[in-house]
Amino acid sequence: MKRLLPLVLALAIPALAQDYSKIKVTPTRLNDTTWVLSGGGTNLALAVGPEAVFVVDDNLAPLTPAVRAAISSVTDKPVRFVFNTHWHYDHVGGNEVLGREGATIVAHENVRKRMSTDQFMEFLNEKIKASPAVALPVVTFTRDMAFHLNGEEISVFHVARAHTDGDAIVHFKKGNIVHMGDVYNRSYPFIDTSAGGNIDGVIAAIDQVIGMINEKTTVIPGHGKLAGKADLIEYRTMLSTIGTRLKSMMKEGKTLEQAIAAQPTREFDDKWKSGFLPPERFVRMVWQNLAASQ
Ligand SMILES: [Zn+2]
Repeated sequence: MKRLLPLVLALAIPALAQDYSKIKVTPTRLNDTTWVLSGGGTNLALAVGPEAVFVVDDNLAPLTPAVRAAISSVTDKPVRFVFNTHWHYDHVGGNEVLGREGATIVAHENVRKRMSTDQFMEFLNEKIKASPAVALPVVTFTRDMAFHLNGEEISVFHVARAHTDGDAIVHFKKGNIVHMGDVYNRSYPFIDTSAGGNIDGVIAAIDQVIGMINEKTTVIPGHGKLAGKADLIEYRTMLSTIGTRLKSMMKEGKTLEQAIAAQPTREFDDKWKSGFLPPERFVRMVWQNLAASQ
């Protein structure tokens, strides 16, 4: 677990900044009831109104004080619902504290399954311990559900086998905002093959979201700056182009090393290489993902 933290954090802050107490999580207001909380690498969404405080994801565990400080700067009410977009520890790390304080944690059933047992993220060679009971989702769903709060309808739906096997997209219908979890990142994305992730599933999920939003929609990626529909379309093009190239090389019997030498990401690197997966590592990851899907 420790090994990955600098990688995840490298998305947003200097590699040396290991002192979590110095990392600030900052709320940015999107409309009357909705904020995005950024800082520490992961984007959270916060909905606040007369009825309830609702938060999408809660960052790394050591950043819980920073997350709570950001929420407190917006409202003095307690968090009533935590919704997790998937099981990764940079999205569920605050569950333990917020759950103990009385928040109801909600997620897809596979998030609860994975958090309930020890996991191994094969590509990152990373062991993740099961979470304590208080951090687990207490309400789970399989396909979709909706929260009717503060005059807003927050619709959540599962996208099958995408970044993991338990991803959900969160759609604030009135506010015209979507939180994508890690189905969408602003750099070459990690696809968690050993947790059921699949590149074609990511592309299908992106297509589904592109089909339901418009030019005015605010798109919150799991990591990276806020986006819109055009950015999502560009991301889809990048993923499908690289995926198609690698699939055909695999079909032709090429080796991974030959695929890397062919530089299948070349025209995308300038824009997408800034995350924790440099181009070659991204190619290795997609290749393994495709090999596992055959
Ligand atoms: Zn993730």
